[in-house]
Amino acid sequence: MQSLRELLQEAQKTGVALGHFNISDLVLVKAVFAAAREQNVPALVGLSEGEREFVGTRQIAAFVKSLREEFDFPIYLNADHTHSLAKGIEAAKAGYDSIVFDLSALPFEENVRQTKQAVEALKSINPSMLVEGEIGDIGTGSEIHESAPDLAKGLTSPQEAKQFVDSTGVDILAPAVGNMHGMLKSMVEGETKKHLDIPRIAAIKKAANIFLTLHGGSGTEDEGFRKAIAAGINIVHINTELRVAWRHGLEQGLAKHPDEVAPYKILPPAIDAVKQAVAGRLRLFNGNRHAAQSA
Ligand SMILES: [Zn+2]
Repeated sequence: MQSLRELLQEAQKTGVALGHFNISDLVLVKAVFAAAREQNVPALVGLSEGEREFVGTRQIAAFVKSLREEFDFPIYLNADHTHSLAKGIEAAKAGYDSIVFDLSALPFEENVRQTKQAVEALKSINPSMLVEGEIGDIGTGSEIHESAPDLAKGLTSPQEAKQFVDSTGVDILAPAVGNMHGMLKSMVEGETKKHLDIPRIAAIKKAANIFLTLHGGSGTEDEGFRKAIAAGINIVHINTELRVAWRHGLEQGLAKHPDEVAPYKILPPAIDAVKQAVAGRLRLFNGNRHAAQSA
C-alpha cells in the first residue's frame, strides 16, 4: 500500500487530485468507500473536530483501517480543521494519515509560530503523518449560508505562501484562492457556482512548491476544478454537497417506508444519494488518471 505522500507525488505527476470527503456517520463512510471502489481510485476521508467528537476519534480510525486492510484498498484518514495541539496529538496517536492544523484565524506571525511547533510535536509522535497548514480566509462552517461572506481581503499571496511553508515545515498548504466553506442557497439550487482564482493558484504553486489542498470545493464549477488541478491543486475537499445529498436521501428513505423502523432498511437511499455525489466528483478529479489508463 502506498503512503499518502507517495500517492500525492503520483497525483502531482499524473495531473489528478485526491478527493477528500467529510464523513460523520456510517452512511457517509459506506457511500465514499463504495464510490471509490467502483472507480478503483484512492480516496481520503476526513473529520473536523466536531465530526470526530460525534463519531469518536479512535473509533473511526479503527473502522477506516479495517476497510483499508480487509479490501487492500487505498482509503486514507485526515483530521480535518484541528484548532489545538491537544486535538492534533489525539489524532496523531490514533494513527491518522494527515491533519489540517488550522490556525488561519490568528495573525500571520502567530499562525507561523504555533504551526511550526505543531509540525514538530505531531511528527515526533507519528513521523509519517502529513501536516497541512492554512493561511488566508475561506470562511467557516460546511453549511448552507444565506449570504456570501467578504473573503476578498483574505486571499493568500504567493509571497506569504512561500514564507509560511519555509518557516513552518508543513507538508501541504491550504490557500485561500476564491474558495469558501459551505454553500449559498443559490448554489444548492444550482443557480450560481463558485469561481476560483486560477492564476493565483499557479503563482502560489510556483512560489511555495508544495502540495496544495482546495477546501470548500462544494458548488464549484467543473471547469474551475479542472483548471485548479492543472494549476497545482492536489487534494479537493467536498463536504456540504454530501450533507445536502445525505439529507435528501434520508428524507426519501423515510418517505418510501413510512412505517419502517429498521435503520438498515431506511438508510440505503441516503447511501445511494451520497454515493452519486461522491462518484461525480471522483470522476472529475481523476479525469487524467482514466485518460492515462485507457491510453
Ligand atoms: Zn476545510
